[in-house]
Amino acid sequence: MKTEVKSTCCYCGVGCGVLIETEEGRIAGVRGDPEHPANRGRLCTKGATLHLTADPTYRLQYPERRATRGGERQRVSWDAALDEAAERFAATIRAHGPDSVAFYISGQLMTEDYYVFNKLAKGLIGTNNVDTNSRLCMSSAVAGYKQTLGADAPPCSYADILQAGLIFIAGANPAVAHPIVFRYIEDARAANPDLKIIVADPRRSESAEIADLHLPIKPGTDIALFNGMLNILINEGLVDPDYIAAHTTGFEALADIVKNYPPAIAADICGIPTADLLQAARWFAASGASLSLYCQGLNQSAHGTHNNAALIHLHLATGQIGRPGAGPFSLTGQPNAMGGREVGGLANLLSAHRDLGNPAHRAEMARFWGVPFVPARPGKSAVDLFKSLKTGEIKAVWIACTNPAQSLPNQAAVREALQAAEFVVLQEAYGNTDTADYADLLLPASGWGEKHGTVTNSERCISRVRPAVAAPGEARHDWEIVVDFARRLGRKLDHAGVDRLFPYDDAEAIFNEHRETTRGRDLDITGLSYALLEADGPQQWPYPEGASAGKVRLYEDGRFPTADGRARFVAVEHRPTADVPAEEAPISLLSGRMRDHWHGMSRTGTVPRLFNLEDEPLLAMHPCDMRHRNLESGDLVRVTNARGAMTVRVAERPGLQRGRAWMPMHWGSQFMNSPGANALACDAVDPYSMQPELKHAAVQIARVDLPYPLAIVRRCASRSDALVLMQEARSKIAAFPYATIALYGRSSPLVVFRAAAAAAVDDALIAELDRLFGMDTDDGAIVYVDARRSIAKKAIAREGRLLGVRLAGETLAQGWLKQAMAEDELDASLIRLALAPSAKPPVTVAPRNIVCKCADVSDVQIQKALAQGADLAGLQEKLKCGTFCGSCVPDVKRIVAQYGTQEAAAA
Ligand code: SF4
Repeated sequence: MKTEVKSTCCYCGVGCGVLIETEEGRIAGVRGDPEHPANRGRLCTKGATLHLTADPTYRLQYPERRATRGGERQRVSWDAALDEAAERFAATIRAHGPDSVAFYISGQLMTEDYYVFNKLAKGLIGTNNVDTNSRLCMSSAVAGYKQTLGADAPPCSYADILQAGLIFIAGANPAVAHPIVFRYIEDARAANPDLKIIVADPRRSESAEIADLHLPIKPGTDIALFNGMLNILINEGLVDPDYIAAHTTGFEALADIVKNYPPAIAADICGIPTADLLQAARWFAASGASLSLYCQGLNQSAHGTHNNAALIHLHLATGQIGRPGAGPFSLTGQPNAMGGREVGGLANLLSAHRDLGNPAHRAEMARFWGVPFVPARPGKSAVDLFKSLKTGEIKAVWIACTNPAQSLPNQAAVREALQAAEFVVLQEAYGNTDTADYADLLLPASGWGEKHGTVTNSERCISRVRPAVAAPGEARHDWEIVVDFARRLGRKLDHAGVDRLFPYDDAEAIFNEHRETTRGRDLDITGLSYALLEADGPQQWPYPEGASAGKVRLYEDGRFPTADGRARFVAVEHRPTADVPAEEAPISLLSGRMRDHWHGMSRTGTVPRLFNLEDEPLLAMHPCDMRHRNLESGDLVRVTNARGAMTVRVAERPGLQRGRAWMPMHWGSQFMNSPGANALACDAVDPYSMQPELKHAAVQIARVDLPYPLAIVRRCASRSDALVLMQEARSKIAAFPYATIALYGRSSPLVVFRAAAAAAVDDALIAELDRLFGMDTDDGAIVYVDARRSIAKKAIAREGRLLGVRLAGETLAQGWLKQAMAEDELDASLIRLALAPSAKPPVTVAPRNIVCKCADVSDVQIQKALAQGADLAGLQEKLKCGTFCGSCVPDVKRIVAQYGTQEAAAA
């Protein structure tokens, strides 16, 4: 019997609602929840394929331990695992004090999970060493809001997008990173032809395609841009003096500073035309309602807090805040970074937006928890935490639901730190992340579709997360693991009140305690309960006791949560980036995201169709930079700086200025023989938010000659088989100076292995790869060998179907072969062409265009279905095209109409 359970998407901070379909105890489908206010039934590609990630192959299902670092993992019982963890943590704390241990957690945890981690560290152990991967993501937005508006509270809602007269997207690419927000931007454009859209981004991103004005500023010049705009607003009398006088402080001091940013100078710093800067400022002031959307481009910087503040200044100076369609709206990266901030799950925060540095706040929380004190000494934030692990100041670390061995900057140092740590616990849903290689103890956690709790999205909206199925094996909920560990640790530390400190039987009890900490605070949710969220659906905060609804928009009355009720202008100046390109590293490597992947791909990297847009890491470069290095698209380059190196394929891409290169941050050691772009990023941090400068790094890029290519494309019977094969084949990545592995395809999944070497790949390695990929057979084999040219090719075909191809020495046909295998389009009579030295497909293999990006449906598939008698409804039923975000429905209808016309003409 089929059932549907309401929950949320576990990827980005848009926080879309989903309906999870289950059948016989397993997740069978997913669709957008039409009643969820964040998405009203829409989903992007990632959300629409969530059900396909519910595969147990890479799941950590049982507690495991390693006797020695790098040794084999052995299954152990939960009791043994948690007793060992408690003993090791207790011994470390007894010998070296509470600050010798640390917790590194995640914006993907539930609010309830976050709350108990925070209480464990700050309330039970007495250390503030609890930080999170949100430090890499949103901490500059937190600090920016607090410095200017007085509280970490995004003042806007998604509804404002439709009411804006100007949308200013700065350091964000919602078309890719927050796709449902981008659908709202598209809706706003369709509804209002006068709407202006400005995108400030060093790269002409996918979001910039919709812009009326793209400002391709030099990396790290955001403050100069915003100060320059403010200079124009002031000089042209476009500020709102009444609003400034009534609701803000500090304007004169800032106005003095921005005198130094006249348009020509500011534009020169930013590397954009002065006219464009003038245009941006005038549109901002004249729109009637300007809405700024911003994210990592501002946050991931050594000046991230001031980047945020400088942008917020534009809103305060023009009074464009606290009214419909206007305000500074930071888009949250992770699904529950907001919830983590709400419970104070960072090294410098306390519950309910309290500050650790405030003695009154510490005393309040100590009273609330019933502990003698909350320690005053600041905890280590992410980058420092790992540095302290390396020096031995921190000896034991507990990592939950995150993968620092890929996501932190300067990976060589991070990996050394993990290696140096005395004891590493990893609490994870997946057992194959890079961090798992360093764990002494691995604790299996429940994942999407299995968890209980609440999350808060970018617009302060709290949603219930509900389980649709049980977690696999012995995996437990994150909060359960923490509470069980806390009780055991408390007993070992002779903490008499530990059971009273951690009395919870379920997630709701934790939520209720967290709720009480918010009483009277800016994010007061004392009017909320699980029952209310159950009955009335997701709700925005604040939602105090007695309220009948949350607040859509903050600061409508012009009062801000500061001591004097006024917002603050902050003295911000442009400063050079932490990692300035120089002779030895002349290119700015920008990192960004792909539409179909999430973070380190531990989940999205298990779904073949999510690689159909790109199944190989590519470094995008400007054509002049390529010519200067004698490079063509498809060549291999070595990207280096003092922190690391990677070999990657280069591609000429429009939209990049000279001196800039771009690469997605998702690719890491699970898919290539390098930890990826973050390995080269510098670990300089913003002094207020402690957020590192992940967004760009100065690098050298040079051609690398590896003239012997190899490609293997292997069809698998099922996705689980493909995942197992991919896992086994990863062991061969290190055998080549360049190697990548990925999935591809739809119903018939493929594993794609690519490599290149300086000399011909020897027969023994080819034989080993053939064995691994099931190509070591004569049954159905077609072989072509040209020993003189070191070419060795083999195809396996059975019953007219190509099952696998190995091309060594010459790989021109790999691209079309892969596509033809994925679409099952290769006619049996043409299989011999699989070994042909041709980059062009035979005429029977039609080039395809993806029509529905959410469901990854091509025009070829639609034509096939129409030929089999499907109509529009039939297409939607069978292929699911146009059933998610809906933006491709006109295209699908057009193909249906064209097909009908052709059929009529032929009749
Ligand atoms: Fe998930 Fe996409 Fe919605 Fe983000 S926009 S929450 S990834 S469905």
